[in-house]
Amino acid sequence: MSKIIVLGSNFAGMTAAIKVKKYLKKKGEVTVISPSKNFIYIPSLIWVPFGRRKLEDITFPVEPVFKKKGIEFIHDKAMKIDPDKNEVVTEKNGKLKYDYLVVATGISNNFKAIPNLDPAAGYVNCIVEPKLAEKTYEAYKKLKKNPGPVIVGATQGASCMGAAYEYLFNLEKQLRKDKIRKKVDLHWITPEPFLGHFGIGGIAGGATMLKTFMKMFNIKWHTNASIKKIEKSKITLNDGTVLPYKMAMLIPPFLGAEALKKSPKLVDEKGFVVTNEGYQHIKYKNVFAAGLSVQVIAPFGNCAVPFGVPKTGYPSDIMGKIAAKNIYYMTKGGKNFKKKPFGKIPGICIMDAGRKEVWIFTNRLFKPRAFAVMIPNIFASLVKTILEKYMLLKNKKGWAFLP
Ligand SMILES: Cc1cc2nc3c(=O)[nH]c(=O)nc-3n(C[C@H](O)[C@H](O)[C@H](O)COP(=O)(O)OP(=O)(O)OC[C@H]3O[C@@H](n4cnc5c(N)ncnc54)[C@H](O)[C@@H]3O)c2cc1C
Repeated sequence: MSKIIVLGSNFAGMTAAIKVKKYLKKKGEVTVISPSKNFIYIPSLIWVPFGRRKLEDITFPVEPVFKKKGIEFIHDKAMKIDPDKNEVVTEKNGKLKYDYLVVATGISNNFKAIPNLDPAAGYVNCIVEPKLAEKTYEAYKKLKKNPGPVIVGATQGASCMGAAYEYLFNLEKQLRKDKIRKKVDLHWITPEPFLGHFGIGGIAGGATMLKTFMKMFNIKWHTNASIKKIEKSKITLNDGTVLPYKMAMLIPPFLGAEALKKSPKLVDEKGFVVTNEGYQHIKYKNVFAAGLSVQVIAPFGNCAVPFGVPKTGYPSDIMGKIAAKNIYYMTKGGKNFKKKPFGKIPGICIMDAGRKEVWIFTNRLFKPRAFAVMIPNIFASLVKTILEKYMLLKNKKGWAFLP
């Protein structure tokens, strides 16, 4: 009997735990440890700041799902991992031993990257965490009463520009709906060298399409932007541009989860687990990682302003599946090993661009690609909504065999 511990219970952790249990059956004792009792469908956080979704609409408890699959769930938090002792140190349950470990702990926000970037300072908002997305809704309600300039974007070093674009276009739509668009000067700031780079080198036609949207919706954009200073009512860029604001929403750079930063033998300087193409740690062969917690090196060289690669839901699910399969292979003597470099995973994303929806498909995330398309359509957020319902159902039922 092998003892497998999975840290994290969202996209990557949920998939890895269910898959490894399915492969090992009674030969595997699988335990998931997570500080969150609920699964949260993070892509729909872009709708929380407009009241289109409440957190209860996009969450469900994970314990019953794991229980049904014969997986133990411990509501606790890993504080650090000691890979030499095969041990996870938890906050409430002491030290727990494993034969195999899957790290799927997501990210932590690097709000210290720029003074006053932390929403706790009370200047700018952020949508990457549930409570912060709710706070951003409160900021919007204030703006509605007293409209003025708005800044939306991603900071230098960020890697989740897609969500910021979605928030931008949804905000623009909401401002029109609330009949205050003319009173709001809307600015988009991004570290990307061109619109629609997305941290994957861009997609043919993407920059033109996004430029057209920006012009159509009267949004002023600033590429290669890096923030020098955030003050109460103005943001200064390093090129000297000063942008006043009444409300701002900025995506910060990401770091590994706190517990990983305290486990230096497993991670890079940012706290991401360093793995091979089978999502196995390069030195500790019984440690795997999946999803946002994996180190991915940007393949597109140095840009004027640094930024990172987005690790979206589909690759997170694939990484979880590969990690589970490789643990199974190891228990069978390790003759087989499944590999899929991150850059070769297909790109599948639906971007809600407010009045439109853009479907993004690439045969692989990183160039060179055989095909990559961005297809705009007029269905507003229809397919994104269907995807949300599908993903919530899939995970609630524990149907990890589905994409
Ligand atoms: C606003 C926003 C919009 C997005 N939109 C899209 C989109 O449209 N399409 C798309 O494909 N992707 C999107 N993404 C990315 C997508 O959300 C991620 O790819 C996905 O959440 C990654 O899954 P994960 O399991 O690696 O991490 P997470 O979903 O972040 O889960 C991390 C898990 O680890 C747990 N954890 C944290 N610390 C510990 C600890 N110390 N010990 C144990 N467990 C711990 C957490 O409680 C959680 O259960 C978006 C991201 C954001 C922020």
